[in-house]
Amino acid sequence: MERDLNDIWRNVLHTLEQQMNRKLFFTWFQYTAALKYENGIFIVGVSNVFTKESVENKFSDTVFALLQTHIPDIQSVQFDVDASLNDPMHPSRVELKPDPGKKARRVSGGKEVSFGSGLRSKALQDKYKLDSFIAGRNNRLPHAACQAVASDPGGSYNPLFIYGSVGLGKTHLLQGTGNKILRNFSDSVVVYVTSEQFVNEVVEGIRMRRMNEIKQKYRRADVLIVDDIQFLGEKPSSQDEFFHTFNDLYDAGKQILLSSDRPPKELSMLDERLRSRCGMGMVTEVLQPEYETRLAILQNKCQEKGVFLDTDILSCIAYHIEESVRDLEGVLNAVIARVQFEKVQPTVAMALEAIKQLHRAVEIRDNFIATGGAFPAGSASAANSSGPRSVFTRDLDVLLSTVARYFRISKADIVSEDRRREVLFPRQLCMYLLRKELDEAYEKIGADFGGKNHSTVLHACNKVSKMLETDPRVMRDLMAIKKELGLS
Ligand code: ADP
Ligand code: MG
Repeated sequence: MERDLNDIWRNVLHTLEQQMNRKLFFTWFQYTAALKYENGIFIVGVSNVFTKESVENKFSDTVFALLQTHIPDIQSVQFDVDASLNDPMHPSRVELKPDPGKKARRVSGGKEVSFGSGLRSKALQDKYKLDSFIAGRNNRLPHAACQAVASDPGGSYNPLFIYGSVGLGKTHLLQGTGNKILRNFSDSVVVYVTSEQFVNEVVEGIRMRRMNEIKQKYRRADVLIVDDIQFLGEKPSSQDEFFHTFNDLYDAGKQILLSSDRPPKELSMLDERLRSRCGMGMVTEVLQPEYETRLAILQNKCQEKGVFLDTDILSCIAYHIEESVRDLEGVLNAVIARVQFEKVQPTVAMALEAIKQLHRAVEIRDNFIATGGAFPAGSASAANSSGPRSVFTRDLDVLLSTVARYFRISKADIVSEDRRREVLFPRQLCMYLLRKELDEAYEKIGADFGGKNHSTVLHACNKVSKMLETDPRVMRDLMAIKKELGLS
């Protein structure tokens, strides 16, 4: 039977290869194997969790349909991570021929494409290192994806799209990846550009009739990094130019890295075809780091700068500044500057002053001062989580109870894997409310619903949005629940 399974899988792959874009086919199905067929479930092994998520989302229906032609009574297909598939000696791994696009990947000569002065000044900066990025629980995934890209540009995560609020490390990750690629593949051409710079160059190129030159420069890149893609603007000329650059590079197996303040689906200023291109590889979100990560970032920055500050002082900053790592650094720098200029001993009080001065809106926790900088028992504890997290936990719990009561089901049903409509719809409604009303991140919501990935949550939100337009009962349910929750 094992032999048969391998044959069936090889057959399915063969058909897929005919149906799909060759590059995508290799990206997703390169190291796969038929692992097991049991109780109607066909289990396909994939080599890592990113591939699992993407293949599950994009191809499970197609794969299922193809498998069904070989096994008519098949019930479902499942993708399991089997890291041993990375091993070339794995007995069932299907060996696909290497992608010819990859050979042409590295163009020799020069570290960077030489741009006009405006662009060169913003090229890769050495200070951003992938290895100095502190990856806590909330940003482990984007960091891991960048590491993967740095060791295999043009490989499985292409394009890599990182999104999240300002000051959370997107530029650091993109630049750090570019720098590491240059270290790993010294002859590669890495181009970093913000979308505003790209637009300026296109506008200028059209005006000066130098578009061909610009096209040439971008086409030479092995790695194209475009930061803050939300500023690409609505001008069709820039969008078109970017679209064609993107396609040409992508088709040639080159790596593309993008960042934005929102997920691809929400980039409403972009043309639909460009939006879908942005989302067709790996999409991952950077989230606010939790307390321990904020503290580790501060400790790391001190080390980099060669200064020593007491943990009490660093805890105080990490405790109060939650929203942005840039702000965290701002306060730290203010304290360091004062210590150096005034030649005084650093204190917690000094940190509190800097926080008040730079961030008026931040509420200084009285109990923090009362305990002289130690964490008061029972408050958002330094040991495991930050303030917003505990607020969120409470919101989530209230939300689940309310929705469960409304639909007369249990809270456990809502967070279960059960896909019957009577529990699926309340679950999707919860996700919708968390996203639209409580502004929670897709990935966080996914994590709270048993480790679902962000596209599952996105799908749930879109589905509810659509239903709201067509089904008055859904609107009635939503209004009633919002009222219960005090949200309307
Ligand atoms: P964004 O591009 O998302 O607005 P940046 O990449 O400019 O944010 O990050 C702001 C600052 O915070 C930078 O100095 C960056 O090095 C630092 N930073 C952000 N996240 C981290 C992290 N996890 N570890 C270390 N430094 C970080
Ligand atoms: Mg940035």
